[in-house]
Amino acid sequence: MSNNKINKETSCMDDYDQNSITTDQALEKIFDAINPINENEVIPIRESLSRILAENIKANINVPSGRNSAMDGYAINKKDIPLKQTNQLKVVGKSLAGNPFSNSIKQGECVRIMTGAIMPIGSDTVIIQEHVLLSKSETEITIGHDTKPNANVRQAGEDISKGDVVLTKGKNLTPADIGLLASLGLSKISVVRKLKVAFFSTGDELRGVDENLNDGEIYDSNRYTLHAMLSRLNTDIVDMGVVKDDKNLLAKAFGKANSKVDVLITTGGVSVGEADYIKDILQEHGNVNFWKVAIKPGRPLTFGNLGKTLFFGLPGNPVSVMVTFYQFVQPALKKLSGDNANLPLMIKVPCISTLKKKPGRIEFQRGIIEKDNNNNIIVKKTGAQGSGILRSMSDANCFIVLPLDSNDIKPGDLVDVQIFDGII
Ligand code: AMP
Ligand code: MG
Repeated sequence: MSNNKINKETSCMDDYDQNSITTDQALEKIFDAINPINENEVIPIRESLSRILAENIKANINVPSGRNSAMDGYAINKKDIPLKQTNQLKVVGKSLAGNPFSNSIKQGECVRIMTGAIMPIGSDTVIIQEHVLLSKSETEITIGHDTKPNANVRQAGEDISKGDVVLTKGKNLTPADIGLLASLGLSKISVVRKLKVAFFSTGDELRGVDENLNDGEIYDSNRYTLHAMLSRLNTDIVDMGVVKDDKNLLAKAFGKANSKVDVLITTGGVSVGEADYIKDILQEHGNVNFWKVAIKPGRPLTFGNLGKTLFFGLPGNPVSVMVTFYQFVQPALKKLSGDNANLPLMIKVPCISTLKKKPGRIEFQRGIIEKDNNNNIIVKKTGAQGSGILRSMSDANCFIVLPLDSNDIKPGDLVDVQIFDGII
């Protein structure tokens, strides 16, 4: 444009914006503003999935508690393994899981043993049943010389030794952790209380999913996405509905949440449009920490507090909501609840698509990570990348993260990727 006076303010079309802070700076400001809550509750382990452990768990027993067999076979003493050819051993009894052989074995003797059964005193090795010849009378076995001493035996405390710290405070509990707690005989544990998170959408154009749409109206999808993302984090959710683009109504909604929930999230109304009041109202009733981040999508992002309540004013566009939630809100919620793994994992993967990118903002494009015909891991972009195109998130299984200064990506370039779902 020849007359650049018309271009007086930075818009969402520009990539450089001197008022924006970087994502790293934004995260630092967010983390600085958060003190992890220190309120715990004791709950049954069955209910502890995705809860944050509030205590170190020390093993009070060995797991397994005694030496036992890893296979079905015969418990022998390694001194009876022949140097060459074969040896005959007398079968003097049985040891079953939960029903051990009560005597010890002497040289030349063995005991029929099943997986998980306690090793009889005097035995140290299990020969699997497929490697022995059992006499017709089932009173004797013949063994070869190729059995390894101490084979197929699980030592007491091999999984966990008494006194070990097995889980540390701040662990986000997984199915494996819950099994581990059960294996120690613990029925209840102390976890950090659930966070209370409220949200509402703003916009005169928004309708509920069971209403009819008039011209220019759209369904409010953000509250559904937010509800789902928060459910995965095991929070107590307060859905405050849709609030019109009206200063008084917005201020009233702010008042309802102020210091009554841990976190308030709003969507929409943070751009520079006429009806975008969120930042101003936060300024009036609380504090604005920052309001612009060099990120695409999602630059107009307001962070601050309303009394004791942390505040996130996310943009209205559905993809921006998800990107800013995962990059800022989720790490914040994790830090607040004392979760000690609060940032997403990033890996480098070759990209097979051409990606358009201008320097100035970190960009979270939506990608599909998969194996190519040669079984190599690659990533490609989903279709159109507009911040309103929620399909791009639904089709994706990862974010392709392009750093602030990067330009276009050519096929074959390595890119950073954040995978949405791990296996656990
Ligand atoms: P805003 O940030 O309020 O200017 O909104 C940006 C864009 O996101 C507009 O096209 C809105 O119609 C759209 N939008 C805002 N809120 C929602 C919502 N809750 N669900 C779906 N789209 C929304
Ligand atoms: Mg709006």
